[in-house]
Amino acid sequence: MQMEYISTRDIRQSKTSASEAIMNGLSSDGGLYVPCYFPVIDNFMGMSFEQIALCILRLYLTDFQDDELKASIYTAYGKNCPVRVNGSYLELFHGRTSAFKDVALQLFPYLLTAALRKNNNQQTAAILTATSGDTGSAVLANMAGVANTRVLVFYPSTGISNMQKLQMTTQEGDNVHVFGIKGNFDDAQTAVKEVFADKSFQSEFAGRYLFTSANSINLGRLLPQIAYYFYGYSELVCKGEIKEGDPVNYVVPTGNFGNILAGYYAYRMGLPVNKLICATNSNNVLNDFIKTGIYDRKRELNVTVSPSMDILISSNPERFIYDIGGTHTVIEAYKSLKSKGEFSIDIPMDIFDSDCATDLETIETIRNIYHSTRYVLDPHTAVGQCVYGKYQKRTGDETHTMILATASPYKFPETIGHAIGNVLNDPPCNLKSLYEKPVLHGQVIENIKETIRNVLI
Ligand SMILES: *Cc1c(COP(=O)(O)O)cnc(C)c1O
Repeated sequence: MQMEYISTRDIRQSKTSASEAIMNGLSSDGGLYVPCYFPVIDNFMGMSFEQIALCILRLYLTDFQDDELKASIYTAYGKNCPVRVNGSYLELFHGRTSAFKDVALQLFPYLLTAALRKNNNQQTAAILTATSGDTGSAVLANMAGVANTRVLVFYPSTGISNMQKLQMTTQEGDNVHVFGIKGNFDDAQTAVKEVFADKSFQSEFAGRYLFTSANSINLGRLLPQIAYYFYGYSELVCKGEIKEGDPVNYVVPTGNFGNILAGYYAYRMGLPVNKLICATNSNNVLNDFIKTGIYDRKRELNVTVSPSMDILISSNPERFIYDIGGTHTVIEAYKSLKSKGEFSIDIPMDIFDSDCATDLETIETIRNIYHSTRYVLDPHTAVGQCVYGKYQKRTGDETHTMILATASPYKFPETIGHAIGNVLNDPPCNLKSLYEKPVLHGQVIENIKETIRNVLI
């Protein structure tokens, strides 16, 4: 059956193909693309991550050829599969840049270039990326050298880790450009979204550049992430930890709500989920939202030890709100967020649970887990671990639980050192080589549109 997509903000519900949705990134009405229905996947036990990814993408990307998907998936993950199950941790950080963003972004260049081809688009794709740290490096590493693309990454010049910054500013490639901005991630993401909404600005580049996004607003980011929820489940069954059909909890360190939304889509596709536990740092807008239905961004953004989750204006709740409330609810909510800085909706289901962790609790968790198990958590995963502890205490729930481990601790040596001292001594190659590389991008800019004009001249 053909799968089509609609924008969360389109009252007329016009349909878009998968390839068009990936090519466009954001819908022209400012909404996000969502699938018209949730397909069901029935048999995924004992499959490899790649096999499961293929099963899922086949159902969603129906205007891609099967051979094309297969080749893309095996080339993307073949040597660098980002996903491994390690005890109760679903480790997602074994890819090229050591964070979970690699799961989607190792595949994304193949999906995007195929999408451009299918739509006979002769323009160069100008990929605008706002990053809270990890998306930028993953987009850069995976898109460098890809023909017919130009990549522009905007990161908050204060508020990401040194290692994250080095990963970006040392990136080679004629088609990549990296800029610090004065401001935080929300400022970067808002400025980039404004460019997508500014038709007259884009018309300056008509015929030459097509603006698109590699942030988790792009469907091509979201879909591959569904696969590891199924893979994690299958591994638990294969190892005899659960029986097929038993519900499982997933704890998800959350910022832009992209990772946990993929878990929600997995649940909507039939994965036996008990709870999706949303874990936030002290920027706990989403924690409040899930608990109360009130989304209130009227607060200061804190710089924390889990910088990739330092976000107040999160993109992907919009897809969840669409699923439970439809177009009108989305439009009202985001109108109110823009004018009043908040909105409120009814969340009629209890598939989500939520809690948050302070920096102090995060560091304590890294220390406690290291001392009891010798496992080194990165600060984001530690937020998840800490929240899971609180959840267990509060509910007594004994359901088998997977904690999504979203980054390698080697990306955050300062925080790890502070928590448990110098225990990290075997960094993955991609991080080890960074200190020897020259810094190629040092610019901090004021005006995103001016910068885009200068780069794409
Ligand atoms: C991006 C990121 C997150 C947050 O994921 P979202 O999809 O934005 O919710 C958590 N941890 C790490 C390490 C990340 O890079």
